[in-house]
Amino acid sequence: MPDGAPDPRSRELAERYSAACARLDAAADAAGRDRGGIELLVVTKFFPADDVRRLIALGVRSFGESREPEASRKIAGIHADDPLSEDAGVVFDMIGSVQSKKARSVAEWARAVHSVDRDKVVDALARGAESALDASVRTGPLGVLLQVSLDGDPHRGGVLVEDLPELAERVRAASALELRGLMVIAPVDGPAEKWMARAADIRARFLADHPDAGELSAGMSGDLEAAVTHGSTCVRVGTAIMGPRPLVSQ
Ligand SMILES: *Cc1c(COP(=O)(O)O)cnc(C)c1O
Repeated sequence: MPDGAPDPRSRELAERYSAACARLDAAADAAGRDRGGIELLVVTKFFPADDVRRLIALGVRSFGESREPEASRKIAGIHADDPLSEDAGVVFDMIGSVQSKKARSVAEWARAVHSVDRDKVVDALARGAESALDASVRTGPLGVLLQVSLDGDPHRGGVLVEDLPELAERVRAASALELRGLMVIAPVDGPAEKWMARAADIRARFLADHPDAGELSAGMSGDLEAAVTHGSTCVRVGTAIMGPRPLVSQ
């Protein structure tokens, strides 16, 4: 990346990032919520490390990645050639589904995993986080958000609401994991408003049992307003900032 005058891609990212921030500000305002209580995770999957560097230069500190080993490679590269990124509090969350055999590598770089929806994944992440802690590759527990199915279709990912309490207990029992809250993806059919209202409901009940796990990761490029209306504490925005995803990985 050239120093001095920003390259065209940096300008484009700067414009889209500030447009996304403005949307988020307006949504928080409209909902009467404190903007400080809503994190904007910029989803950089499929985009190269250079884009992450450009965003860091724009002040972005929170990123979402969804694929291994793409994420590991990208993040290792960023930390290696830019030591500032670690000191500056840059964090990466895993928002995609985790295969058991990739759990250890995810536990090396992720602040939290948003997509935990099965016992097997909890157990694999618990082992991965444990071993990353032992090796001092990480210094604190791995955050866990349980992905809940909003439409009850098990094929689309997410734990069924009725199975949520047991899965939450399993996370609680793992000392290397820290239960932080819930994550949802609104199904494409029907208005996002309706799904986000349902997410808010599920979360209210969840909070009664887990008052310290209040995060709600909800909202993407197309539905962040509805998510903020219904209490999202973290929106995951890809396309609106990065542009359309390339069909083939870089
Ligand atoms: C890709 C992805 C996003 C970002 O979606 P956009 O519509 O591009 O904003 C958010 N959440 C998850 C789980 C994703 O995989």
